[in-house]
Amino acid sequence: MNSESRSNRYARQIQFAPIGADGHERIAKSRVAILGCGALGTVAADIMSRAGVGHLRLIDRDVVEWSNLQRQSLYVEQDAIDGRSKADAACERLSAINSEIKVEPIVADVTSSNIRGILKDSDLVIDAADNFLIRFLLNDWALSTATPWVHGGCVGAVGQVRLFRSDGAPCFRCLVPEPPPAAAVDTCDTAGVVGSATHVIASLQATEALKWLSGNRQAVRETMLSVDLWSNRIRELKISLSSQSCPACGKLDFEFLDGARAVHAESAAVLCGRDAVQISNPSPADVDLAQMAKRWNGLGRIQSTRFFVRLFLDNKHLTLFRDGRVVVTGTDQISEARTLCDRFIGG
Ligand SMILES: [Zn+2]
Repeated sequence: MNSESRSNRYARQIQFAPIGADGHERIAKSRVAILGCGALGTVAADIMSRAGVGHLRLIDRDVVEWSNLQRQSLYVEQDAIDGRSKADAACERLSAINSEIKVEPIVADVTSSNIRGILKDSDLVIDAADNFLIRFLLNDWALSTATPWVHGGCVGAVGQVRLFRSDGAPCFRCLVPEPPPAAAVDTCDTAGVVGSATHVIASLQATEALKWLSGNRQAVRETMLSVDLWSNRIRELKISLSSQSCPACGKLDFEFLDGARAVHAESAAVLCGRDAVQISNPSPADVDLAQMAKRWNGLGRIQSTRFFVRLFLDNKHLTLFRDGRVVVTGTDQISEARTLCDRFIGG
């Protein structure tokens, strides 16, 4: 390849008037963190690397599995065979796509004690997380550092997108004041997910990010966009709540960031001598066990009692108690237990 053809790499992006040479220059100087390297994260990372974002940091605690290949576009079969770390495999592929940018893999479970270090110096964060609670932590961190982030979520064929500016405009908690109780929301493992839908949502996230990074902030969508690709419904949700009443952006009470309310592994403990991990619910609630059993239908053998509902997987089982506590049996790895919880219980 000669240098002339290399210099043409961004020609079509620069040709697009709202971006232009100035916008591209800004994109090239940007540092973006992508939280999660699953269906949304891989597609967003692919777009951002090709657009020439100067520094991409990819964060994920999981390894590539066969069930990821249906939609997680940076991975190939060998990654699943080798059980590679997602962040590592994704970064290697991004380097092959664009050798001019810097990519940085971080294999970690994001918690209130490490989020500041993990997201340090990011100009923008793309939320491609597979669990709901982490967004409350990300929202706190983003407000405390005035960093914009692009929320995205997708289950089944339904997804939603919005950029939160963290500059006085409504925040994520203005829209969702409290985390939903366990078993109240579907996950990709309980309801399935269509690969084309996650590509659409990730593309919308990347577009909002490129608008912001290229200096086209007036073009950023001010509403939460919700798209149902299967039943052809598109909705725009305006967030009109007064920010004064919001615990995060109104009262500046960053309870998830300061650890007063736990997310993730902080609330998990290995149960001695039992080959099991217990994950406590940070906001104990009366969980609807019958509803959870219904969502698990078809995924494996289910045992229901008055006190808990249990799902048997290959060599592990998950027991969800009425207070939201979960015991994952068959592992002593907190991160693996947490992943199974996020996948099969959500919340
Ligand atoms: Zn708020």
